[in-house]
Amino acid sequence: MAFDIDMIKSVYSKVAERVDAAREITGKPLTLAEKILYSHLWDGKTDRAFVRGKDYVDFAPDRIACQDATAQMALLQFMQAGKKNVAVPTTVHCDHLIQAKQGAKKDLKRANETSNEVFDFLESVSNKYGIGFWKPGAGIIHQVVLENYAFPGGMMIGTDSHTVNAGGLGMVAIGVGGADAVDVMAGMPWELKFPKLIGVKLTGELNGWTASKDVILKVAGILTVKGGTGAIVEYFGPGAKNLSATGKGTICNMGAEIGATTSTFGYDESMERFLRATDRADVADAANEIKEYLTGDDEVYANPEQYFDEVIEINLSELRPHLNGPFTPDLATPVGELGKKAAENDWPLKVDWGLIGSCTNSSYEDLSRAASIAQQAIDKKLKPKSDFGINPGSEQIRFTAERDGLLEVFENLGATIFTNACGPCIGQWDRSDRKGEEKNTIVHSFNRNFSKRADGNPNTHAFVGSPEMVAAIAISGRLDFDPMTDTLLNEDGEQVKLDVPVGLELPPKGFAVDENGYLAPTEDGSSVEVKVAEDSERLELLEPFTPIQDSELKEVKLLIKAFGKCTTDHISMAGPWLRYRGHLDNISNNCLIGAVNAYNKKTNFVKNQLTGEFGGVPDTQREYKAKGIKTIVVGDHNYGEGSSREHAAMEPRFLGVAAVLVKSFARIHETNLKKQGMLGLTFDNENDYDLIQEDDTFSFVDIEEFAPDKPLTIEVTHADGSKDTIMANHTYNDAQIAWYREGSALNLIKKQNA
Ligand code: SF4
Repeated sequence: MAFDIDMIKSVYSKVAERVDAAREITGKPLTLAEKILYSHLWDGKTDRAFVRGKDYVDFAPDRIACQDATAQMALLQFMQAGKKNVAVPTTVHCDHLIQAKQGAKKDLKRANETSNEVFDFLESVSNKYGIGFWKPGAGIIHQVVLENYAFPGGMMIGTDSHTVNAGGLGMVAIGVGGADAVDVMAGMPWELKFPKLIGVKLTGELNGWTASKDVILKVAGILTVKGGTGAIVEYFGPGAKNLSATGKGTICNMGAEIGATTSTFGYDESMERFLRATDRADVADAANEIKEYLTGDDEVYANPEQYFDEVIEINLSELRPHLNGPFTPDLATPVGELGKKAAENDWPLKVDWGLIGSCTNSSYEDLSRAASIAQQAIDKKLKPKSDFGINPGSEQIRFTAERDGLLEVFENLGATIFTNACGPCIGQWDRSDRKGEEKNTIVHSFNRNFSKRADGNPNTHAFVGSPEMVAAIAISGRLDFDPMTDTLLNEDGEQVKLDVPVGLELPPKGFAVDENGYLAPTEDGSSVEVKVAEDSERLELLEPFTPIQDSELKEVKLLIKAFGKCTTDHISMAGPWLRYRGHLDNISNNCLIGAVNAYNKKTNFVKNQLTGEFGGVPDTQREYKAKGIKTIVVGDHNYGEGSSREHAAMEPRFLGVAAVLVKSFARIHETNLKKQGMLGLTFDNENDYDLIQEDDTFSFVDIEEFAPDKPLTIEVTHADGSKDTIMANHTYNDAQIAWYREGSALNLIKKQNA
């Protein structure tokens, strides 16, 4: 059995006491999100109410999930902690590295050939450290989590932004960077700014062509891609109870598209049905015993304006099906209005592909409703005008859908059944029908539709819809088709109309699977050898970082003064570099290559103070490193904004940068620098940024006295021998100074373990 009922019972045994205490401390009834947050405090309790959107709080998540792309560096780092096992139940899922091309069998074989070293590494490291491993082809991380691990009232983190999908089973599940996951695996707390709360009251009932997907497509249109930032979205009301658990999962999944920290629903009968159907009756029984603690308080839902920071109300009975896009998931258009919009914006009306599935929409309900439309095409002699591709979310759902004849319906329409993996949803799609950058339109039931996302073509116009709507549009081959009003010409020359989709929430014969692709770790992994080939281009075991000595900070050279925006993408680019995310030396060749040099406004073109020559940032830095010279990076405001990518801190650290001095930091990046044992500093007087010149040398005159709340003094010597003294602030506490002194947070953990 993959999930851990004892862990869940242990969580549930503390919920009542902790939630009651939180109600007392806050002096008010609680939302579900607050109940889950307050019952997962690292210290178990608090003596004060936290301020939403302001206070940073330490939490103790119950689970961790990692996907194959992000798990590589996370697990390489975890190996540095010197732990025998992960401190919190963890799973690794191989889903991102499998390209969709010819169909599941051939595609999986090819992925196993091209990425076998990554899969072998992940399997061996999982086996060694007590981590559950889901093989390539076993399924997409979030679908597998929903079917096996998610539980009402739980808290999990995952190294993927759509970890939020588990809100469909009443969790607070949040996507994080690898460094955060490593902390929790190593037994440290996980810090989060206490989120704001958005309430979405659902009334009425879905009907006709409208699906759960349309709820979030509508919400995305209201809140836009930034509207949920820093907030948990909590859905409630009679309409919520009418949705299936997997439908709730779809809604929570796409909460990532409005920037929300996560989304969740209170425990109800739909969740109980799903738990029992997925062989987790004991979880359902345990949840039933404390069910009033697994949903928001009645008073909160009766007067939501008093308890949420923002409230939205949607009547499901009146909701219309939507297609969102192109290029952004918040451009919401009711289906009947797309023709006019497409004409105004010159969007191609002809639809080339209809893609169904992904972690967002591959439940039994989704597949059966979409299959009911596909079956009508066969019965009514309609030949689909677009190609069909299906990505089942897990082997369990694939096997069950095959057994029940659902996949056969799609195959009869000529659909390609791709591997149970991300495929086109993450650009892993070798699309044979279009080459180059031709303008074209596709529809899919995934979550993201940014430019180039599916096939790398910036002119592919991707629209997001429910699986049944995708099926209908793909059969018609037209973006402006409205199945509620329009007819289609069949092979007999007759005009026929598609009937409303029908489907089943759960498989009547139950779920089934032959081989689910799960490998449990061995009891004692101490003798398991982690597999990394010595000549690997993609993987490299990490060496612990050596602590930066005070004596090394007296003759520090300027590497680059970055001008303007410098995000984690500028510091550690994605794209083709993702191939090297498990190989620190190789991926460091992208270090800061996107940052703009303040002196010449060029990227990746900086002066080497040793030679006077100009060159790329990584090459120049490697020359300083070879001579044992430490360097400093100077930056502007909000340095390191963007993602929580730990590579953006690890690469400069690996290459020998000692300090980053900026006008202000994006907080997560600042913390990542601290974790890697380097100095993240801010100008006390931000005008001092202008004093820094291209040939400057820096001396940290009082680094020996590095202490909390005490600014550091830096003497800057210019090329002409003149000097300026600047003050640099920092936010290091005692524990973080200890990380710095040990060379990294992981070095300190390892020392403490020893
Ligand atoms: Fe991410 Fe798409 Fe894979 Fe889901 S299917 S985990 S959204 S890449």
